[in-house]
Order: sequence, then structure tokens, then C-alpha cells
Amino acid sequence: MRAPDLTTLTLRAHCVAAPLLVVLCVSLPDGLPRAGVYAFTGLACTALVALGTHRHRPRDATGWWFVAAGVGAWTLGDLVYSYLELVVGVEPFPSVADAFYLAAYPLLALGLRSFVRSRTGDGDREGVIDTAIITIGFVLLSWIFLLQPTLADGSASVPTRVLAALYPVGDVLLLALLVRLLTSSGARTAAFRLLGAGVVLMLVADSVYQVQSLAGSYSPVLDAGWLASYACIAAAALHPSMRRLTEVGPTTGVEFSRGRLLALMLASLLSPGTMLLQLALGLSPEPWAVGLSSVVLFVLVVLRMSGLLTRVREQSEQLAALARTDALTGLPNRRSGDAELHRLQQAALAEGQPLAVAVLDLDRFKSFNDTFGHPAGDRLLSQAALAWNAGLEGTGAVLARWGGEEFLVVLPGRDLADAAAVVDALRARTPLGQTFSAGVAQWDRAETLAALVARTDEALYEAKHAGRDRVVTAAGTAPAAQQQPVPAAAVPAAAVPAARGGAPAQPVA
Ligand code: GH3
Ligand code: MG
Ligand code: MG
Repeated sequence: MRAPDLTTLTLRAHCVAAPLLVVLCVSLPDGLPRAGVYAFTGLACTALVALGTHRHRPRDATGWWFVAAGVGAWTLGDLVYSYLELVVGVEPFPSVADAFYLAAYPLLALGLRSFVRSRTGDGDREGVIDTAIITIGFVLLSWIFLLQPTLADGSASVPTRVLAALYPVGDVLLLALLVRLLTSSGARTAAFRLLGAGVVLMLVADSVYQVQSLAGSYSPVLDAGWLASYACIAAAALHPSMRRLTEVGPTTGVEFSRGRLLALMLASLLSPGTMLLQLALGLSPEPWAVGLSSVVLFVLVVLRMSGLLTRVREQSEQLAALARTDALTGLPNRRSGDAELHRLQQAALAEGQPLAVAVLDLDRFKSFNDTFGHPAGDRLLSQAALAWNAGLEGTGAVLARWGGEEFLVVLPGRDLADAAAVVDALRARTPLGQTFSAGVAQWDRAETLAALVARTDEALYEAKHAGRDRVVTAAGTAPAAQQQPVPAAAVPAAAVPAARGGAPAQPVA
């Protein structure tokens, strides 16, 4: 077994040391030692994010460097805060520590944004709308429980209040990017989960801190939340799966998972739920905030629905096209060949125009397969389809793959002789020196399409029987003038066989 490399060892040591440091920090009484442990843990985590990024060398490291800078800024803020409080002995809020703390939000947000960009490739409208839907619910909560009380706090000066309000704003920004990251396509690796957990811990600790400080209290357990958040982010950067965090994921699959639907439902319920809760608790609800957020939410939901409908329509069009097409040759398949035949018969009936059909069958195709292999047979089929289609261009005829190496041609506006000539001209176009036999019949305006095709098949059978590589017209109820061989001079003597029960067939060439 290979010895684990330095980064793996570091990750293992981190997984042991970080929880111990968190517990140590929380169990120490307020004072310099505790602040020291806190600052050390923060600095170590910053260094570990940088180390992981440096060692793993992800394809796009930008996001990770932003994350390292964000955690670093927070740690510096902690250092300055503790220094002012414990060494200088002044009130650390507001102070220069806030500059570091507040800088961390955009830095981290830029990091997450960079991850999202790498993962989603080009555009992800659904992800953006879902993020907005989920975030808007939390914006309302933040407004009601954090922002508005902070701004209305009469005990602080206006600049201090505005400064304090920037924290919940930063949290909402982070939350939005976190949701965006969670809704992005791409691998959900250990690093992905650790990073997500780190940001969630950060947001929870921040929010609890803000609620507590509005109430004038502070519980030191909160420090555990922040430190655990740093530790999770460091572990994410150290984990080898961090490389895959910035890889483009498949574009489908995640955008309508059950989990996402549940999250969307719960987020949509936040706004009315908050109002109902406030009413139930006898608090005065905030009709403007709830009303506005609901309006935005409804618009977003309708946008999302319209996107889904567009997608369903596009997919059903794609499916319908697939269901009409033969996969090998790209021609209409038997189902849509049938439909074309029916459509053109109706048109011929309405316009009083003649209609003919032909069935083409490659000669000795089995031995072609046996000689050159099945894939070569496949290529011949698709090349023949292409060549014949080119030959039919401008004639109004429709070529379809009838099955195997058999093709149906529907020739609107053609009488028997005309149709036979068109089909006969295709013989020279057959690729690789191969030949086909064909039967042609003209619709007698009374028979069913099944009977018409059966007569065409009879003629094809005659063509095969007469030695292949020829076009034979079906007699039957077509006008006598059109039952003449075309060209008459080219009819081989042996090519007029006994008909199989049905009408006698006439060879063309
Ligand atoms: P004939 O001149 O009497 O038509 O002889 P044939 O060998 O062409 O006719 P037969 O019906 O005996 O064999 C048809 C062959 O077509 C058998 C089958 O393996 C081959 N075939 C049918 N569909 C495909 C296909 O999609 N790809 C390939 N490569 N071969 C196919
Ligand atoms: Mg054949
Ligand atoms: Mg066949």
C-alpha cells in the first residue's frame, strides 16, 4: 500500500485537531488564552485552505483563493477584535475589526460565485430563479427579525446602526450564493458538502449572534459555530474531491429533484408562514414586507413555470421528431411513411391527381452483410438513403424506410409510367455498385392503402423473381395505357413471370 501523501496526512491531522481546538476554545473562560486558541484555529484554517488549494491544483483555483482570503479576513477581524477588547481595553464595535469582518462576505461570495460559474458551464436559468425563490423567503425573515430591529435600535447612532445592519445583508448575500451553489449541477463530493456545511454553520452562528445581540446577550458557544465553520471550509479545501468542485456537471437531472421541490415549497411558505405566526403570537405582522415579498415570489414562480412549460414543449417536439425518424438512415420511419402515404392519398383524392407508390429492396443484401460485415451494411443503407433522396429531390416524392433493407416511395401526381421512370432513375444512384429491385403500383382510387401496398409488393416479388436489378410495375386496375413496360425495348424476355395469385406485373427494365 502506498504511503498517504502530505495533504492526506494534513487532512487527517486536521480532522483530529480541529474538533479538539473547538472544544478547548469553548471550555476556556473568557480571556487571552481563549482568544489565542480562537485566533490560532482561524489562522490555521486559513493556511490550510491555501495549502489544499496549492497542493491539489484544481483546474480553476480562483474560487478557492477567494475563500482563503474570506476566511483570512474573518480571522484578522477576530484578531483585531480580541486585541482591542483584551489588550487595549476598548469597546471593539464599531472598530477597524468590522472592516475585516465585512470584507469577508464579498470575498467568500466571490469564491462561491466562481465555483458556480465553473460548475454550471453556460447559463442555468432554473438555478437562478430557484435561488431567488429560496432567498426571497430568507430576505423577509432577515428584514423582520434582524435588519429592521437593528436599524430601529434607538440606543445606537445612525452610522453604527447602518454598520450593524451590513452584517445581516452580508449573510443574505452569502445565503443566496450558497443556494446557487447547492442548486448548481456538478458532483456533490465530500468537498462540496464540507464547504456547504461550513457556510451554513457560518450563517447560523451569524444569525444567532445578531438575534442575541439585539436582546443584549452573548453566548460563548457561538464561537464554536464560527470555528467549526472555518474548520469545515479548511477540510473541504484539503479533501482531494475539491478538484471536482469546479468541474462542469451534467445540465439535466438536478433541476427538478424532489429535494429541490421540497426546498422551493418550504421557501415559498416562509412569507405567509411568518405572517400567520406573527398573528398567532399576537405580534403585529408586517403587511408591506409580506405583501412585497409575496408579489416577487409569485412572479418568480410563474417565470419558473413558464420555463418548465417551454422545456416540456421542446422535449415533446424532440420526442415526436425521434418517433418519426429512422435512427440509421434519418429517413421517415415506417410509422411516418404510413402517415405520409395516408396524407398524400387524401391530397390526391381532393385534387383529383394520380398517386403511385414503390417499394425498393436491396438485392442480395444478406450476402453484402456476410461479405463486408454488418456495420458496412449499415453504412450502405444510410448512403443509399442519402443518394436516393437526392435523386428524388424536386419530384415531390417521399422516401421512407419501410423496414430492414426495404424502402417505400410515395409519388404524388405521378401515373404508373411516370413513377416507374422516377424510380428507375434511382438505380444508377445506388452506392457501392449495389442494385435494388422495385415494384411500382398506381393507386386505383378505390382500393385501400393496404391493398395498394400489397400490389406493389407483388410487383417487387416479380422483379426479384425475374432476376433482380429492375423495376416492375403492377398491373391491376390502373388505366391500360399505364400498364405498358417502360421502356418496352428493355424488357428481358424472362422478366415476365407468372403472377403470384394477384394481378400480373410488368417489368420496366
Ligand atoms: P434479396 O435480393 O432476395 O432481397 O436478398 P436479400 O439478401 O437482400 O434479402 P433477405 O431478406 O434474405 O435479407 C435481408 C437482409 O437484410 C437480412 C438482414 O440481415 C439484413 N438487414 C436488415 N436490416 C438491416 C440493417 O439495419 N442493417 C444491416 N446491416 N443489415 C440489415
Ligand atoms: Mg433484399
Ligand atoms: Mg427484404
